[in-house]
Amino acid sequence: MPDEQRRRESQVPRQYGRSAEAEGYRKLYRTARWRRLRERQLSDAPLCQWCLESEIVTEATEVHHATPHRGSEELFWNGPFVSTCKPCHSSRGQREDLGQVTQTFGADGWPVA
Ligand SMILES: [Zn+2]
Repeated sequence: MPDEQRRRESQVPRQYGRSAEAEGYRKLYRTARWRRLRERQLSDAPLCQWCLESEIVTEATEVHHATPHRGSEELFWNGPFVSTCKPCHSSRGQREDLGQVTQTFGADGWPVA
């Protein structure tokens, strides 16, 4: 196995329990801090950014973590965030959170690796 690959795999936390993790960050969503952050994100980017990729204009109502935080408070609070509509969030957002591959595109229009 190449060194680079081994290093990356060793950084993936595998040990913590899935349900404890989920319970941990569900609490974060109930905080006033998250609500403020969410409001701010939706006022900065009021349209669903995933619909916009298909040139569809939809009001965003959800804030998605572009990088799955997987219980990391650092990522949870600092993002990057994506404003999405509910249908996008529940389809594509779920897939991303489950670690399934979805192709994303940067602001410059090129795929993000
Ligand atoms: Zn959408």
